Amino acid sequence: MVQSMTNTDTRDVRSTVNQIRELEEVDCELVRVAVPDVEAARAITEIKKGIAIPLVADIHFDYRLALLALEAGADGLRLNPGNIDEAEKVKAVALAAKEREVPIRIGVNAGSLPKARNPKLSIAERMVEAALGQIRLLESLDFDLIKVSLKAFDVPTMVEANKSLAGKIPYPLHLGVTEAGTPRRGVIRSAVGIGTLLYMGIGDTIRVSLTTHPCEEVIAGYEILKSLDLRQHGPILVSCPSCGRAEVDIVKLAAEVEEQLLKINKPVKVAVMGCVVNGPGEARDADVGIACGKGKGVIFRKGKKVGVVAEKDFLTALMREVETL
Ligand code: SF4
Repeated sequence: MVQSMTNTDTRDVRSTVNQIRELEEVDCELVRVAVPDVEAARAITEIKKGIAIPLVADIHFDYRLALLALEAGADGLRLNPGNIDEAEKVKAVALAAKEREVPIRIGVNAGSLPKARNPKLSIAERMVEAALGQIRLLESLDFDLIKVSLKAFDVPTMVEANKSLAGKIPYPLHLGVTEAGTPRRGVIRSAVGIGTLLYMGIGDTIRVSLTTHPCEEVIAGYEILKSLDLRQHGPILVSCPSCGRAEVDIVKLAAEVEEQLLKINKPVKVAVMGCVVNGPGEARDADVGIACGKGKGVIFRKGKKVGVVAEKDFLTALMREVETL
């Protein structure tokens, strides 16, 4: 499942609902909202009325907010064992969650780990230890609607921690590289961390955390799943990097096609190629493709040449093919 988190003030119900609806439009499947105070916890009731996807309440420090979020109708809770450290408090939350059959995600962050019992442990080992401690506590309360995340900014740490924990527990894992950064760098860090684990068969939900509008997180999440063939979701654009052989502005054309494809939902593979040397091969492989030459381009559909178009019509002719496919 592809997940994101709102960056609105949760107490501002209208803005939060609007942002979740935007997320729903890009097919976000699960949304987390920050619950920093009582008002935010109570707002969940109204927010839920305006949205269609499950909502997870993100709780730090105050376990009473978790209890309030449950009362308000949260579909899931995310707790950080690093900052709700008293077993009695976690117990109270687990009992209330169990009553409502609401899952709890134990969210361990490398940056806010509980004190290590053994100072020789690596960060990854401490993350695993923190998660196992909370898992045992929940299990001792006969609570098994558990999901776990082990997030770190450092990709090898995040990969190592998840790989180690995956072999030790039967519960689903939520993957993410935390504070990954602005889109250019954050998408790469997340794709490497999340992608490495998914390729090993580890991970059930993902969040690409980026310093930008959360819809971008969802789009990036699907790109990771698509590149590993784990999901079909919307179009796939194949475009050549362009080189000295190109006789048209392929960079501009590919950007325009990418923009147009945002409006298309079907899983169609579209190729935009810059010349007649390597272009026809890739263009033929795609569902729809164009191999551009000087002043004109060849359009392919399902491997067959279906027409030759003038340069001014490249974009419209290609998109017409995509739409009629
Ligand atoms: S398809 Fe042609 S223009 Fe594009 S990178 Fe390859 S050789 Fe260069």
